[in-house]
Amino acid sequence: MVLLWLVLAFPVVLAGWMGYRAWAVRRERQALMATPLGPAERAMIEHHVPLVRRLPDDMRTRLDGKIQVFLEQVDFVGCDGLEITEEMRLSVAAQACLLVVNSEAWYDPLTTILIYPGAFKSRQQSHDGYVVSEAEIIRSGESWTDGPVVLSWAHSQAGAANDRDGQNVVFHEFAHQLDALSGHTDGAPLMAEGQDYGDWARTMQNAYARHQKAVSQGRATAIDAYGATLPEEYFAVVVEMFFETPEALKREEPEVYDQLVQLMQVDPVGWG
Ligand SMILES: [Zn+2]
Repeated sequence: MVLLWLVLAFPVVLAGWMGYRAWAVRRERQALMATPLGPAERAMIEHHVPLVRRLPDDMRTRLDGKIQVFLEQVDFVGCDGLEITEEMRLSVAAQACLLVVNSEAWYDPLTTILIYPGAFKSRQQSHDGYVVSEAEIIRSGESWTDGPVVLSWAHSQAGAANDRDGQNVVFHEFAHQLDALSGHTDGAPLMAEGQDYGDWARTMQNAYARHQKAVSQGRATAIDAYGATLPEEYFAVVVEMFFETPEALKREEPEVYDQLVQLMQVDPVGWG
């Protein structure tokens, strides 16, 4: 009889415990969100990620809170002898959080960021029918679905320092992380509330096809040619532009720009 009661009570106790855990995590997040960064941390971020200086004040406060949550959630691991510094943690966290500063999206599955001093070797598999081949390629960044983000510190630092060239490896890899939250890294991230997926898909597919055509014809394009390799790369490349060269993206692909405004809930052209 006692055993029967234990068996019956177990799901109730488990559900209660899980509910409590979710509540506790939410509460901890809310507390971190309300904790401002110190002046030294803010100065370090502004030095390494100058784009942050352009943010409107209310967004700057929200960014601070999200950086606190990010740093609590994610472990940074140095590779090839690299020692992780406070600059590295704050710089990467600030750039990752800029992408979600105003939206509800969050990097829930992310727990680890690996940082190499410079470009690193990565194994890439390719499939040709039944033949699987593996090649070693050199990368400056990598993003795994449900897994870590891998970054070259030299490239991450240079990408953040020049915030007007439309190239930023941290934005690129974290755009892939956002994309992956939908379950697949395919250029179709989870939509913001009220955003129409049909409009998004039509806009992005048409723009991707135009970009592929322009690149295959050897025409000069404002959007990086690498964006013509896959829909997910197109998405990552336009996210880099959206924050660093928003005017150029809006001029080149106004509908893509508008879709990103809806997705990210920010309008960087207005940041000056
Ligand atoms: Zn990519």
